Amino acid sequence: GTGIMQIHDFTEQHPILDVDHVRQEFPILGRRLHDNRPLVYLDNAATTQTPQTVLDAMDDYYHRMNANIHRGIHSLAEEATQAFENARKHVQRFLNAADSREIVFTRGATESLNLVANVFVRSEMRPGDEVIVSEMEHHANIVPWQLLADTHGIVIRVIPVTEQGELDMAAYRALFSERTKLVAVTHVSNALGTINPVAELARIAHERGAAIVVDGAQAAPHQPVDVQALDVDFYAFSAHKVYGPTGIGALYGRLDWLEQLPPWQGGGEMIKRVSFDRGTTFADPPHKFEAGTPAIAEAIGFDRALQWVERYGLDVISDWEQHLLLNATEQLQTIDGLRIIGNAEHKAGVISFVVDGAHAQDIGLLIDQLGVAIRTGHHCAQPVLRRFGLEATCRASFALYNTPAEIDTFVSALRRVIDMVR
Ligand code: PLP
Repeated sequence: GTGIMQIHDFTEQHPILDVDHVRQEFPILGRRLHDNRPLVYLDNAATTQTPQTVLDAMDDYYHRMNANIHRGIHSLAEEATQAFENARKHVQRFLNAADSREIVFTRGATESLNLVANVFVRSEMRPGDEVIVSEMEHHANIVPWQLLADTHGIVIRVIPVTEQGELDMAAYRALFSERTKLVAVTHVSNALGTINPVAELARIAHERGAAIVVDGAQAAPHQPVDVQALDVDFYAFSAHKVYGPTGIGALYGRLDWLEQLPPWQGGGEMIKRVSFDRGTTFADPPHKFEAGTPAIAEAIGFDRALQWVERYGLDVISDWEQHLLLNATEQLQTIDGLRIIGNAEHKAGVISFVVDGAHAQDIGLLIDQLGVAIRTGHHCAQPVLRRFGLEATCRASFALYNTPAEIDTFVSALRRVIDMVR
């Protein structure tokens, strides 16, 4: 088979995907653990596995092309620069950004958010100015603002989360003041799976004269993202959650912002001219924000990963994961004392749950012995778990290579584990 499935209807009970073909592209999925049990990898919100084609792309770079970029005129440097800049154009297409100068390579979503926070606060905000974040943010979109609150006197306002696990939109509207300069929210919650109405959040922010930065770490792997249609000012994500390598991610920033904002880190690559007595001038975006030698092999792997994703298409990926989500949700609901946290109307393939009388940590450790990898803990989102009176949950999260049979294995393993600990 081609591995390409045709499903365009969520209600279809048996969508057709040649999932075996997809799985064969991932060497790691052949691993066996503990008594030769097949690995059931359901921790995709933490990181996705890497297909062979991405490994090959990075290997090929080191075999044939390894050179520093933007600096040399020799052939290898030219080829490496070309490959790196092609990767940037690919990220641009992936997000439907208007211009490739709007794509800054970073180490990942965390660095992208820190970059925006630092340059935006330094340049656009005065002590007492306000940033709105939500209660469901990952720590990567909370702590950078707190650090700047300490040093720059900015004020953090927080959008509350409803019992269903959605943003309280009325409360959001009411949080704006004369001093609101920026909204920083996640597109998809890594702890609850909630998909937030980003276009509406952006429209409201802009009506009130504020800019918006979106944490797309959990959205980019699961649904098509169009930064122009969403009309956001900044968008952050990581390659390693989109079937790419670790150590690289991207920040989209609207060109006028990137031109206006000051650099963050200083070093090579980000300058036009450096002088002790006549001052230093900076490169144009995106290079202004890319000090030092970037992750070149990883950019090339990132490019290949996006190519891999596009081979199937994010609509197909989203349909498949919705199918798995529905299947898993229905089966989990039959387990006595199990409670799913967050049942937003729009959810990505992430299920957080707790079980009466069983600690999340114990479940995670024991189910691992049965070959099933899930995440347990606070998921770097402590405020939203506390909102539900919890310190930890179990989380299963899906990718294109997961199968309905794996959901069955997961659920029966979970039943066994619960019997053991109760
Ligand atoms: N934001 C969200 C919603 C996430 O789920 C994650 C990763 O877990 C991050 C940000 C941070 O991503 P990274 O660790 O790749 O920088």
